[in-house]
This record gives sequence, structure tokens and C-alpha cells, in this order.
Amino acid sequence: LELRYQPKVSLTTGEMIGLEALIRWRSASGELVSPGVFIPIAERSPLITRITHFVMDEACRQMQLWRTMGLPETVISINFSSTDFYQEDVCAQILNTLKKYKLKPQNLEIELTESLACKDIDVATLRMQELRDAGIQLAMDDFGTGYSSLSYLQSLPFTVLKLDRSFVVTMHEKTVVQEIIRSAARIAKAKHIRTLAEGVETQEQADMLSEVGCDYAQGYLYGHPMTAKEAEHFIRTHTIRKIV
Ligand code: C2E
Ligand code: CA
Ligand code: CA
Repeated sequence: LELRYQPKVSLTTGEMIGLEALIRWRSASGELVSPGVFIPIAERSPLITRITHFVMDEACRQMQLWRTMGLPETVISINFSSTDFYQEDVCAQILNTLKKYKLKPQNLEIELTESLACKDIDVATLRMQELRDAGIQLAMDDFGTGYSSLSYLQSLPFTVLKLDRSFVVTMHEKTVVQEIIRSAARIAKAKHIRTLAEGVETQEQADMLSEVGCDYAQGYLYGHPMTAKEAEHFIRTHTIRKIV
């Protein structure tokens, strides 16, 4: 298993605000297998928990390494699956890994899908609040692919709303999509939740997203998922937002 890192940037300042860790599987023949192929299979067994544990550990180890190299501190985002998230000691495990690599909770963001959150809303709220109380950021991933209940935004302690790429792709030809984004961003803002658009590939999309109230973006326009070495170069050559 290998990790790639994709930058997230601020649409207003252009600063890099963090990196998302994305997993790849190097198969026996040497080719890289996409997570879209093996994660859904792993999610049907306890294997997913071992994979998430690997991603957490490896990404935090990399963050510590960058720090020892003198690179500015940033935020790393990790994707969590439903099985991982409903484990009782998930928060303790996360905090242990942060401690192991001497990272602050502010250096970490956990990405969760809304379908994960609504599997058991009471337990999900409890877990999320535990993570928030510890100072870890929480992103709602793939917003717009499920039922997209804005009430979850209202009731769950998310810090970032990640708009799915499908919104970005259809936005230019459908004014209704622009209005949906505008409304979601406005509702989010009222709760001090930032909005990030996924899959931004053109400057035209970035401009439009900025106009409808999106705060952040991620996509090929700014950078593809990169190896640790490439990400190191990216961090060295871009302005990185300071951790507060
Ligand atoms: P995701 O979390 O929604 O990640 C975004 C996906 O969009 C990534 O695909 C990324 O490479 C791709 N992407 C980013 N920018 C662009 C763009 O501008 N255009 C287009 N067309 N695509 C873009 P990837 O890396 O293949 O990951 C697919 C999915 O696999 C992820 O979707 C996530 O749900 C899952 N995944 C990846 N890594 C992990 C992991 O460590 N753990 C878990 N549980 N799931 C993971
Ligand atoms: Ca994600
Ligand atoms: Ca996503």
C-alpha cells in the first residue's frame, strides 16, 4: 500500500490549506490499483480497519518527517470508513497516533461521508463530538452524492463541507446547481463551516465556485495526488496557510 497526497487550496488567498492522503495498491505485477477498486471490497471485511490504521500511521509519519525537514506545518486529511468510525476506541487510537508522531490534533482532519454519519446518528454524533473536543477537524465528504440532508450540517459538528465533483462538472451549464452550491455554502457559513469543492480542473470552475461562495478547492487545477517527494516540493514552492 502506498499513499499519494493531494493539495487543498484557499480560493481567496491561493494558499495551500492542507493535503488529503489517498491510498494506492501496488499489485504483484507492479501496477497501481485505484482505491475505487479495492476499498469497497475491503470495506466488506475487517481488513478496512487495518488499511485505515496503515493510512493514519503512514500519513502522520510523513507529516513528522516533513516537520523535521523544516517544512511549514499543515493539515493532513484521512478518509475514514463506516466500520472504522463506529469502533469504540477510535478517538483514543487517533490521539495515540498523533502522540506517537508528536503531531497536534490541529494537524489532522478526518473525512467522513454523510451516509456513514446517518447509519447510527446518536453514536456518530458522540464520536464526532469526541474528535471535535480533542481539536480534530471533521469534513463531510462527497456531499451531493447521497441524500444530502442539510439537516446533518445543522446537527453534526462538521468543520468542512466537501462538495462532490458532480456539482463542479455540471455547474457551468445548470444555474440550479450554482444555486444549490450557493445555498449550501450560505447555510454552512452560518454554522462556521467552510465549503470545499472537489475535482476542480479549470480556472473557469474555480472562478465560478468562488463567486457562489465556496471557500476552498481541490483538484487537478492545483495538483494531482502526488508522491511524498512531489508533495514535499509542492509545500516548499507554495504558500502554506499557518495553523492556528
Ligand atoms: P474521495 O475521497 O472523494 O477522493 C477524491 C478522488 O477524486 C480521488 O480519487 C482523487 O484522485 C480524485 N480527484 C481529485 N481531483 C480530481 C480532479 O480534478 N478530477 C478528477 N476527475 N478526479 C479528481 P482516488 O484517489 O482514486 O480515490 C477514490 C476514492 O477512494 C476516494 O474518493 C475515497 O472515497 C477512497 N479512498 C482513497 N483513499 C482512501 C483511504 O485511505 N481510505 C478510505 N477509506 N478510502 C479511501
Ligand atoms: Ca475524501
Ligand atoms: Ca470526496
